[in-house]
Amino acid sequence: MHSTLKNDLEILPSLLETAKQQGLNYLNEIDTRATSVKHSFQAKSKLDETGTGTLGALNEFNQRLEPLMVASSGSRYWGFVTGGTTPAAMVGDWLTSVYDQNAQKVKGDGDISANIEIETIGLLLDLFGLPNDFFGGFVTGATMSNFTCLGVGRQWAGKQQGRDVAKDGVTIPIKVLTATPHSSAIKSLAMLGMDSNNITKVKVLEGNREAMDVVDLENHLKALAGAPAIVIASGGTVNTVDFDDFVALRELKSKYNFWLHIDAAFGGFAACSRAHQHLLQGWGNADSITIDCHKWLNVPYESALFFIKQKHNLLQVETFQNSNAPYLGNPMENFDYLNFLPENSRRLKALPAWFTLIAYGKKGISDIVDNNIQLAKLFGNYIEQHPAFELLAPVRLNTVCFTLRGEKNPERVQEFLFKLNATGKVFMTPTVYNGRKGIRAALVNWRTTKTDVEMAVELMNKFI
Ligand SMILES: *Cc1c(COP(=O)(O)O)cnc(C)c1O
Repeated sequence: MHSTLKNDLEILPSLLETAKQQGLNYLNEIDTRATSVKHSFQAKSKLDETGTGTLGALNEFNQRLEPLMVASSGSRYWGFVTGGTTPAAMVGDWLTSVYDQNAQKVKGDGDISANIEIETIGLLLDLFGLPNDFFGGFVTGATMSNFTCLGVGRQWAGKQQGRDVAKDGVTIPIKVLTATPHSSAIKSLAMLGMDSNNITKVKVLEGNREAMDVVDLENHLKALAGAPAIVIASGGTVNTVDFDDFVALRELKSKYNFWLHIDAAFGGFAACSRAHQHLLQGWGNADSITIDCHKWLNVPYESALFFIKQKHNLLQVETFQNSNAPYLGNPMENFDYLNFLPENSRRLKALPAWFTLIAYGKKGISDIVDNNIQLAKLFGNYIEQHPAFELLAPVRLNTVCFTLRGEKNPERVQEFLFKLNATGKVFMTPTVYNGRKGIRAALVNWRTTKTDVEMAVELMNKFI
């Protein structure tokens, strides 16, 4: 064993203690740590011949890199849809590295990580009130979940037309219908060779909505005359958190031949809020659903999952099987995750989610969700009543989409946001909604309180 490695092994207890202390120092200051940082980062290009040992590496990290870390898991980082990390999730994540399992097989040689993953999927189905005829697994993010789900949808659509797309490629056009898809769904179609230029855009409902007009969808489906299609629905759009009507989609599904995919990356957590779960009514009838855990469940990156109906197991294995031999018999016998999703080797991704689910239960998760919704509505009220701001859409859940009021002000949005973010005290992201420049604040962090909202409003007042 190399002498530096040997030495590191000998001092491992103190190394872990040092790392723990540094982590605590960071977390103790997360409320005051900047949410953005100006830097002129210079990447190192030469690797030293002799390593520094872990303490040396930590030293270099602390000098060059640590000061550039931003409080993206803190309470006022409202850009994109950025969750934090609960204590339980952090413990689960640390232990994932410590145990370093490779989650694949359910039966076999002692590693039960795939069983833990399956247990976690079951707990999440219960949390969301979804039926247990879904099969699920963990991937890196909602993008990869969309990819997985649409990949199986692609195989389904091929089979409906007598083709095996996994084996023969996309030799026939596959119709995709959608209204307000997340950009990552389009990216997934591109990765799947599915002609992302050729999507049929379904109209949205009138009255400042992003949800699809199901009458228009039905017209498109009718025109297909029985040819299969994939419908990508939204369980929470990113700008205004609008939901498609899953009850109406369920009815259409009984009349027309389509694969229903719901991207509910963060909006799926509305199921944890008694007052908002109606938004998801009927979603259990989808063929596939995308959920992100590194957003509203507040577990560290990279944690997302797919739910795909068990009746599609075979299609899923056809799409992702790792061996070239055709999968014989029941795909659940000799079950191995690597035949069901894009990755082969995977860390035990489910463990941080498992920890947070077990630690806080349904009530703990729904408290996080309800708290964020309440605070988003509070923030939305400030915006609505403020003479300098204007809501671009009603606050339907946890996201506030707004702009500067007045004819000329849209041009100032960028400058305003730049100044606001440069304070390092709050972080929001720019957007364009209905052709207008706007700003989005998405609240999904378990730490966020009313004081954070008040602080943001106070800061905003400085730059109008
Ligand atoms: C965030 C998000 C995605 C992409 O998720 P990643 O985890 O960044 O890959 C997809 N769909 C929706 C609705 C999202 O909010």
